Amino acid sequence: SFQPSPNVTHVTPSMTSGMAARARALRATGRTVVDLSQGQPEFDTPAFIREAAQRAIDEGATRYTATDGILPLREAMAQQANRRHQGLDEVGADEVVVTSGAKQALFNACFVLFGPGDEVLVPTPNWTSYYEIVELARAVPVPVLGDPAQQWKVDPDALRAASTPRTRGILLNSPCNPTGAVYSPGEIAAIAALARERGWWLLSDEVYRRIAYEAPASSVLDCTSDRERVVVIDAVSKSFAMTGWRLGWAVGPREVVKAMAAMQSHTTSNAAAVSQHAALAALQGGAAADGAVAEMVEALRQRRDAALQELLRHGPVEHVRPDGAFYLYVRVGSTGGVDPGAFAYDLLEREGVAVVPGAAFRTPEWIRISYGGAEADVRQGVRTIADTLHAAR
Ligand code: PLP
Repeated sequence: SFQPSPNVTHVTPSMTSGMAARARALRATGRTVVDLSQGQPEFDTPAFIREAAQRAIDEGATRYTATDGILPLREAMAQQANRRHQGLDEVGADEVVVTSGAKQALFNACFVLFGPGDEVLVPTPNWTSYYEIVELARAVPVPVLGDPAQQWKVDPDALRAASTPRTRGILLNSPCNPTGAVYSPGEIAAIAALARERGWWLLSDEVYRRIAYEAPASSVLDCTSDRERVVVIDAVSKSFAMTGWRLGWAVGPREVVKAMAAMQSHTTSNAAAVSQHAALAALQGGAAADGAVAEMVEALRQRRDAALQELLRHGPVEHVRPDGAFYLYVRVGSTGGVDPGAFAYDLLEREGVAVVPGAAFRTPEWIRISYGGAEADVRQGVRTIADTLHAAR
């Protein structure tokens, strides 16, 4: 019989995908299900990007490319980093590696930077895959609980308290999945300063950076002039509604991206050629790209406001008011004395509304609601949640 190797003994399938699969299974039996568990907005990829990709296929973008990605794309990524970095210590195309989604960039970065015995600080709650990716690198993820009164954000004191002589890095995510919290430039600078002082790697996952509703969300590149131990993770997935194209990248020190590319040359090779050309169109899209992103962010803002309005229809409910991304994090507590983790499962079975249990983000009394879906679904689903919470009180 199958005995998993020690490589994967810690790995569990993603709870996010698990809820989506259960929602699909219920639908297949004829039930109406409102799916608020998805980690993606329901928009189509903007037309100018799809058209550029179609042209690229016709013009021969059907073969292997350089492992680290086509040069014009890496140049466009470097240029985007430099616009944020304000010319300090210019990022070159050789400090960029193109990957199959942000997930691969994160995985490869963790794999080349961390190993057995290393500890990596993970502000919590946070995206479920961080813990698993660090474990796949045989390092130890150390959850650092944020402050629920501060949108669950962590500060340098909390990080300091969780650190040991074995701490090697920290995974920062702003805007944050699942809370929608956005770290201010001052908060990012303070964390970057601590990482620099301690010699920790700072991995900054900025895949939701363009999806911010109040002030623009800052990159770590806006907040520090020293990027010797900084790796920025980005992707077109969320900002350009391109999750299925699987296209992300990392910006980091030359030796780090070289090691990531070497690793990738023996695993997946280059990211899909057509996806690279699609991403190039997105990054070079100028006003068309900015307009498409702004339109999506505006639609998401309306859905956020609709979700908040429905959530609070019977009065206060503890939640994080999201300033970015497209998730609403809500405390359901131990309603009616039931196991708090069961709330999401009961909600799906009884009411036909799918959300992700907070256990996936190591805060089991909470749930994550995605408002990336159609506004009518968001309203209906969140209203059901508010009614359920109200009835249990
Ligand atoms: N980082 C965060 C915080 C995410 O929420 C996700 C997707 O859910 C990813 C990375 C993965 O992005 P990609 O689809 O580009 O691999």
